[in-house]
Amino acid sequence: MNSVAASVLMGLLVLPAYAQEPSAKGVNFYSLESEIQLGQVAAATLMRTLPIVHEPKLDAYLAKLTAELAKYASPQFAYSFTVYEDRKPLGLQWVALTTAFRMPADAFQGLAAEPVAFAGGPILVPLSLLADAPDEAEFAFQLAHAMAHIALRHSTRQATRQELQNIAAVALKVESDHTLAGAAILTSERVAVQLGMLTFARQSELQADTVATGIVAAAGYDPEAAVRYLEGQPPADGAKPPRVFSAHPTVDRRVAAVRAALEKLPARGYAAGTGEFDEVKALAAGIR
Ligand SMILES: [Zn+2]
Repeated sequence: MNSVAASVLMGLLVLPAYAQEPSAKGVNFYSLESEIQLGQVAAATLMRTLPIVHEPKLDAYLAKLTAELAKYASPQFAYSFTVYEDRKPLGLQWVALTTAFRMPADAFQGLAAEPVAFAGGPILVPLSLLADAPDEAEFAFQLAHAMAHIALRHSTRQATRQELQNIAAVALKVESDHTLAGAAILTSERVAVQLGMLTFARQSELQADTVATGIVAAAGYDPEAAVRYLEGQPPADGAKPPRVFSAHPTVDRRVAAVRAALEKLPARGYAAGTGEFDEVKALAAGIR
């Protein structure tokens, strides 16, 4: 039993606004409304402390590219994208936040491997991903992968699964853990942030890859870019694990999922592009 699931469950108990409602597919304790609310609180809390990059040209580019992708993702979510600087060490203020919210000590420390998707729509995009992307199609795949996690409601499904598995253990944990005993300390912010920090299951990652492949292809980007992107990733259990909240399957399994998705796509040419990628990438690389 870990404290994350315990606190999320406590959140459900102490916050009546987060009504339980079954979803169309599979069990999900969270209503769509509460999911969107939690994701917004989590993203806003982190964005107050993370070094957010404010660069109008970059934001305009991201808005243009993601508006195209969003046409082919689930329309019930309002995807929003915020760039943060992941290439510099975070300060003491961040350390205080990770402690206060019981985040993993290394959360957001160091170069990120993929955008961070929060329930209901917010997505944090590490600047290094844009600065290092070889082409727009590969960058689009990374954004679409994060959108797919949101569209598939992976955060709240994962939270629901952990709660189901640990429901008995939670009661014991709450009684024995003095730091959890007072409902007063369990603010909605903490619950929301911890929901955002749950590790996606490997199966969720493969699903996100499959859906993202469909999104980029429908938007006119070469979906083979997904394979190129994945093959450029360090192995999941190698010396350099991805520093995101994902238990990534091996690159081979992810490539196999993408290839299976590619086979189902109709034959067509792929020529989408904003025409601005090179300029914006250079801009991103130059931000200090
Ligand atoms: Zn992922």
